[in-house]
Amino acid sequence: MTSSVAVLGTGIMGAGMARSLVKAGLDVTVWNRSADKARPLADDGAKVVADPTEAVSGADVVVTMLFDVDAVAEVMQRALAGTPEHAVWAQTSTVGLAGTQRLAELAGRYGRGYIDAPVLGTKQPAEQGKLIVLASGPRELAPRVEPVFEAIGSKTVWVGERVGDGHRLKLALNSWVLSITAATGQAIALARDLGVDPQLFLDTIAGGGTDSPYAQLKGKTMLADDFTPAFGLAGAVKDAELIVDALREAGDDPALMQAVQHLMSTAAAAGHADEDMAAVVYAFR
Ligand code: NAP
Repeated sequence: MTSSVAVLGTGIMGAGMARSLVKAGLDVTVWNRSADKARPLADDGAKVVADPTEAVSGADVVVTMLFDVDAVAEVMQRALAGTPEHAVWAQTSTVGLAGTQRLAELAGRYGRGYIDAPVLGTKQPAEQGKLIVLASGPRELAPRVEPVFEAIGSKTVWVGERVGDGHRLKLALNSWVLSITAATGQAIALARDLGVDPQLFLDTIAGGGTDSPYAQLKGKTMLADDFTPAFGLAGAVKDAELIVDALREAGDDPALMQAVQHLMSTAAAAGHADEDMAAVVYAFR
């Protein structure tokens, strides 16, 4: 039975996920490298600890939600030996295909179960327990992680039993999310720089066949000049690189994602790395 969950990483996503786990009645212990981001979770009912090894010591399920594969590997190399033998590692950070392989091998070295579980959805769905979990791994581990996935998500898609199937779908989904964000930025920049009101772009597509709720969401952010991060630009650059690698591995032309990666990197280098990825709109000037 799963009752105790450790969450390693309480950034934008991990903090919301930890709150959803507490709300579902699970015993939640959290750790974050910068303690100030974990501390407020004590008011929500989580146990906040100063060391990842302490966080995982009694965990039935360990959830990692850190920036990239190097961060996850660094933390779990320290923590894995301290997990109970029955513990299952649910890896929710976006780490790509090679990254997933590397982390699954790390879990295997310690004889711990590993479920690849990247998520779809940003800050608000994480806070509301409405993420979509893209799970893959041995089906016999499913009952152990399902209470966790039910708490953080509105839906779990079991993509397959191969390590990395969750990430295969996640990268396809993020290729769509990143492309539509960059395309929205391009349309807004083009309208603006040709001298028409860019709001008219969003108003004109609204409700029609070419409309998209995501274009409306990110377009509104761009026009309001409010780039409070929901999906940070630095993370989007990282994901674009992972998608380019996956396209190459699949034998597909990476040209579109390379262009998106270039635009997002340009905006990040211009000082917007910590802002929402909608700040890609700055790359067009
Ligand atoms: P975030 O707010 O930037 O949080 C990143 C977390 O990683 C923080 O806890 C940070 O710790 C930690 N970290 C970074 N480098 C570290 C290291 N070397 N050692 C230990 N901890 C380290 O990012 P996020 O948006 O929550 O994203 C987390 C993961 O979820 C990423 O893989 C991202 O791609 C994925 N994701 C994000 C979204 C989204 O919309 N935001 C959606 C789906 C998936 P500090 O606080 O100390 O810096």
